Formats: sequence, structure tokens, C-alpha cells
Amino acid sequence: MADLTKTVQNLEQRGFVVHCFDTAEQAADYLDQQIDQTSVSFGGSITAQQMGLYPRLAAHNQAIWHWEGGSALDAMTTDAYITSVNALAETGELINIDGTGNRVAATFFGHRRIYFVVGINKLAPDYDAALWRARNIASPKNAQRLGRKTPCAAKGDRCYDCQSPERICRGLSVLWGPLMGAQVTEVLLINQELGY
Ligand code: SF4
Repeated sequence: MADLTKTVQNLEQRGFVVHCFDTAEQAADYLDQQIDQTSVSFGGSITAQQMGLYPRLAAHNQAIWHWEGGSALDAMTTDAYITSVNALAETGELINIDGTGNRVAATFFGHRRIYFVVGINKLAPDYDAALWRARNIASPKNAQRLGRKTPCAAKGDRCYDCQSPERICRGLSVLWGPLMGAQVTEVLLINQELGY
């Protein structure tokens, strides 16, 4: 079990700005205030969807989300970018696995501000455990959600490192710290289970 206080300390030591919230609604209120009269885009994220971020921010920003018909390419150059992680290590590494690459690419370059919205269920005690979580919990659930013909989607128990044409795990990103191109990279830790 990961320790939230240590996770915050380790993230801050790495240079991330961290904010903790008790509820998803409080985190959504924060983003609603921070991102105003500008452009914002979103990575594919059940967490962001559960938080209702797109309709809230689209009401007073230019908002782009490919899950709402927007262009993933246009989403690469907005002022702010919001997504989640597949796992967050207590030691401070942020891990994502991607199939298309738009989400991991956008967290690496192209935005002035990046926000990761992370439910408590994404925490893991260390880097190896976080990588395991991303591969064996988050990815199979995403494959099931997408209805992919993969062994993990059929069985729902773990990753089989499949060679299926419908494999969704094609790229792995690890943020050891905020990338230098962004002015601010924030991790919003939410004390609720959100996403996978
Ligand atoms: S590599 Fe294949 S089996 Fe493993 S989680 Fe990804 S899609 Fe599922």
C-alpha cells in the first residue's frame, strides 16, 4: 500500500507541483478556476470523464477532446493539457501506456501547462509495482472497455504481453520529473477511486 504523504514529498522533490483533494468535485473546481479563457485539451481518460471536466471547461475555454469529436492533432498545441496516469509510484514516477501515442506524446511536449488528475487507486508502492499496475490492471481494463480481441480483455485477469493485432499497449511513458518544455506540471491527487 502506497503512502500518500511520501508520494507527495517525492513528487515535489522531483519538481512536480502537487495538490491534494478529498473529492473529484473539488479537483474539478480547482481546474475550472485555473483554466479560464484559454485553450485546453484532454487525453483519453476515464478519470477526466468521471470528473466531468470537458463540459465544464468547454463552457469558458477553447476545449479539444477526441472523445468529443475533436482532433487529437489539434490537441497537441493547446495551452493546457489534462490527462491521468495508468499508475503513480510512491517514489514519484508517472507511468502511462498508450496505443495511438497521442496521450503520451502530449504529456512530453507542446503545452505550457500539464495537469495529471490521479485517483488514489492509481498509487503503487514503487516503480516496479507501478509498472506492474499499468500493465496488469489498467491496460486489461482499457482493452475490455474498448472491446479488443486480446487475451487480457477475454480473461480480465492480467497482461499476456500479447502479439494481437488489437493490442493496445504499444508505447510506455515514464515521467521522472516535469519535462523542461512545460512551464508547470501539476499532479492533482484525489482521495477517491477514479478511472482504472
Ligand atoms: S499487451 Fe496485450 S494482453 Fe497485455 S494488456 Fe496489452 S492488450 Fe492486453
